[in-house]
Amino acid sequence: MTDPTQKALDFDYMNARILIDGKLVDSKSGKRYESLNPCDGTVLGTVPEGTKADVDAAVEAADRAQGAWAALPMRERGAYLRRLANALREHADAILDIEVRDTGNTIGEMRLDVANGANQLDYYAGLGFEIKGSTIPATPGNIHLTVREPYGVVGKIVPFNHPLMFATAKIAAPLIAGNTVVVKPAEQSPLSACYLAELCADIFPAGVVNIVTGLGAGAGDAIVRHPKVKRIGFIGSVETGMLIQRRAAEVAVKHISLELGGKNPMIVFPDAELDLAAAAAVKGMNFGWQGQSCGSTSRLFLHEDIHDRVLADVIARIEARKIGTPWDPTAQVGPINNKVQYDKVRNFVEVTLAEGGKLETGGERPEGSEFHPDGYWWKPTVFSGMRADMTLARKEVFGPLLAVFKWSDIDETIRIANSLEYGLSGSVWTQDIDKALKTAQKIDSGYIWVNGVGTHFPAVPFGGKKNSGTGNEESYGDLLSYTEEKAINIILK
Ligand code: NAD
Repeated sequence: MTDPTQKALDFDYMNARILIDGKLVDSKSGKRYESLNPCDGTVLGTVPEGTKADVDAAVEAADRAQGAWAALPMRERGAYLRRLANALREHADAILDIEVRDTGNTIGEMRLDVANGANQLDYYAGLGFEIKGSTIPATPGNIHLTVREPYGVVGKIVPFNHPLMFATAKIAAPLIAGNTVVVKPAEQSPLSACYLAELCADIFPAGVVNIVTGLGAGAGDAIVRHPKVKRIGFIGSVETGMLIQRRAAEVAVKHISLELGGKNPMIVFPDAELDLAAAAAVKGMNFGWQGQSCGSTSRLFLHEDIHDRVLADVIARIEARKIGTPWDPTAQVGPINNKVQYDKVRNFVEVTLAEGGKLETGGERPEGSEFHPDGYWWKPTVFSGMRADMTLARKEVFGPLLAVFKWSDIDETIRIANSLEYGLSGSVWTQDIDKALKTAQKIDSGYIWVNGVGTHFPAVPFGGKKNSGTGNEESYGDLLSYTEEKAINIILK
C-alpha cells in the first residue's frame, strides 16, 4: 500500500477523476463538466460527468466488497478510518487549496471543516465497538437475542456547502458498521471529493469507498433507484429530499435519512448578555460560508427593549467583516458559491424591499477592483422590520441574508418561530435558566443552543424536525441507523 501521506500537492484540477472499484477513472461516457471559480466565474477544473452506468459499476463494486469488509474485525475497520483521518490532516493544505477555490468559503472556516471530517472519522472508529444487540427475557426457557447487521451498500448524497467534510464525516458511520459506500458530491463543488478519491484509492480495499461526480439529478437519482442500495443518507434541500423519498419508494422499501434545510430562530430576551448575543447573531449566520449553512440562525428575534441596541451592534460587527478572496487568511466573507444561489439572494433582496422590509446594511455587491464582475460577490445583508408573512421571514435563502424581528410577547414569538415547515436548529439568549429551558423546549427544532450558536458538539445528535429532515447524525443513534436489528429466537427443549 502506498503511503498516502507522501502524496505531493499536485492535484490535476483539469483532469480530476472519480473512484470506482479501487480505481481512479473517468466517466464511462468520457464526458466531463466544468467547475467554476466563484470569485470570477472562470473554469477552475473539470470532473467526470458520471451517469447511471458509472453508478451501476460503483454499486456493483461496493456490493462485491461488502462481505469481506463486514467480516473484518472492528479494530481493523477502525484502523482504516483512522488512516483516512490522518491522511486528511496530513493533506489539509492541499485540500484547503482546492476547497476554498471551489466553494468560495473562507480558508479559516474551511480549516475547521477538514479537522471536523478527520475528528468524525476518529470518533466513529472507536464508537464501532458499541454496536451491540440485546437479550430479551420475554419467554422463560427460551433465549431471545438480537444482532445488528449492516445494510450492505449505502448511498451518500451531499450538498455543495461543505463538500469535503460531508464526504468524509458522513461515510464514517456506515463504514464502521460494515457497509460499503457510494458517494455523490454536489455538482457545484466536486473537486475536493476527487482529491478524496485519490486518498481513498490508496487507503481502502477496492470497492469499499466509491465516489461518483455527476450533474443534476443524473448520478444521484441512479443511486436512489438502484435496487442494491437499501440505505440512503441524503443532505440537501427539502425539495430534493422529498423527491428522493418518492423516487426510492417506486423501486423498493429503503431506509432514508434526510438532513435538509432550515430557517432557524434566535430569540434574545432583554436580560441576555447583549454583547455576546450580538456577536453570536453574526457568528450564527456563518458569513465565512456566505450564510450557506443549514444551521444558520437567519431569523433574529430581538425583544423591543434591547432591539435597537443589539441591532446596531450586529450591523457594526457585520460591516467590520472583511470581504475578500477565500484563500486570504484575513478574509471573513467570500463569494457566494454559484450563480443559482447568487440570483436567489438578489431576488430575495428585491422581494423583501418590495414587501416593506427595512434594509439596514448590505443589499448590494461590494465595490472594488478585487471583486471581479463575473464573481458572485455579495455584501452580508440585514433586514429589520420583519413581519411573519414576508417571504424572507418564511423561506430559507441559504445565503448572507439576516431577517430581524422585534418582539414583545414570548408566546407569540414562539408561535411565529414554529410556524414554518422547517425545524432544524434554534438559539435562546437569556441569563434566566428557567426561561431558557422553557423556551428551548417549546421551539420545535432538532438542535437548540442556549446562549450559543453554530457549534456542533461531538456525540450530540444533530438532525431536523418537520421538513428539516428525519434521523440525526454525529451521534451513537446515527451509527445504529446504519445497522438493521435482527431477532434470533432459540427455542430450548
Ligand atoms: P440540493 O438538494 O439541490 O442538492 C443536494 C445533492 O442532491 C447534490 O449532490 C445534488 O446533485 C443532488 N441531487 C439533486 N437532485 C437530485 C435527485 N433528483 N436525486 C438525487 N440527488 C439529487 O441541495 P444544495 O443546493 O446542494 O444544498 C443546499 C441545501 O442543503 C439547503 O437547503 C441546506 O439547508 C441543505 N443542507 C442541509 C444540511 C443539514 O445537515 N440539515 C447541511 C447542509 C445543507
